Amino acid sequence: MNRKIILKSRPQGEPLDENFEIREEVVEKIEPGFVMLKTIYLSLDPYMRGRMNAGRSYSKPVELGDVMEGEAVSQVVESDSEKFSKGDIVIGRTGWQTMPVVYQDKIEKVELKGIPLSLALGTLGMPGRTAYIGMTNIAAPKEGETLVVSAASGAVGSVVGQIGKIFKCRVIGVAGNEEKKQYVKDYLGFDECLNYNTPNFVEDLKLACKNGVDIYWENVGGKTFDAVYPLFNDFARIPVCGMISMYNNEFDKEAEDRLPMLFRNTLTWRLRIQGFIVSEFPEQKQEAMNKLTSWFKNGKLKYKEDVVEGLENVVEAFRGLLKGKNFGKLIIKLADEPN
Ligand code: NDP
Repeated sequence: MNRKIILKSRPQGEPLDENFEIREEVVEKIEPGFVMLKTIYLSLDPYMRGRMNAGRSYSKPVELGDVMEGEAVSQVVESDSEKFSKGDIVIGRTGWQTMPVVYQDKIEKVELKGIPLSLALGTLGMPGRTAYIGMTNIAAPKEGETLVVSAASGAVGSVVGQIGKIFKCRVIGVAGNEEKKQYVKDYLGFDECLNYNTPNFVEDLKLACKNGVDIYWENVGGKTFDAVYPLFNDFARIPVCGMISMYNNEFDKEAEDRLPMLFRNTLTWRLRIQGFIVSEFPEQKQEAMNKLTSWFKNGKLKYKEDVVEGLENVVEAFRGLLKGKNFGKLIIKLADEPN
């Protein structure tokens, strides 16, 4: 029996339970070249909110009635493929479902030996690669520079800041509550972390960035960007990785149009503001994996996961992700790991 979550209607603003439906289906036979999987860990990631919208983006939306998109680590339970055998552990974009049947080209074997499986969805997976690719191609950190990272306790931000430390930058994190702030500073080893929900945030950030900001890693937009923006040094680099504060289409329609000022300062301060999507750098995937794995094994990359159990809790957990309820990489556990 496969249980899957389909997109029933497109959310307007925050995703609601009624936008989704859990369906069950019996899978009796698999075709040649296909495998049947048991999902162990499903990754929930902010990009999924974009897939729920119609309209132009860097990727196609999920069609109404289709299973929601998502990457997962699974075990092969039945195989009619020459590439995979029963028992193999695989990773692929197999969606929000418990027992998918997928074509062999959609998955690959997980090669992380002696490392927790769920890490293939976080620090040693797509979010970790995002951090590596944005840092090496756009941020280009130099020793002594100041790097500010938003959503610092999360899957991407935590790796960005730790890479910043490896490159000997002064790293300032920004996070949404005191617990996350302490974790970023004390456990991840950032030089400082500030809670953007405190009244003195803007002033505190200014004090923490006495030499200005050379790199701002944009994960959120909104008030964090507003606070960092006046602190940019000449030639600052701004990898635009995400804008999570806007994913539920929460735009302030009354806000002043600051685009002309932003463009002007981009010119006079010679800023480099560049959006990027991790999947556009397939040629760097292996390099990123090698580096991240080696840093991880040498104790230079620490991580935290927020694990929620059960397919029925996916929608609620996803809503929380867009409000900062998760603390660390959000993972849905759908089955026990094999021994
Ligand atoms: P996280 O694990 O960091 O979880 C999301 C975090 O964002 C929350 O914990 C919360 O942290 C913060 N957040 C949520 N809602 C808001 C809000 N309304 N305003 C401000 N902050 C908010 O997620 P990821 O690390 O997976 O993703 C971080 C960013 O990176 C996202 O924007 C995502 O879309 C982007 N991304 C981009 C990729 C690319 O290829 N360009 C690939 C992967 C991710 P807090 O409580 O601290 O505010």
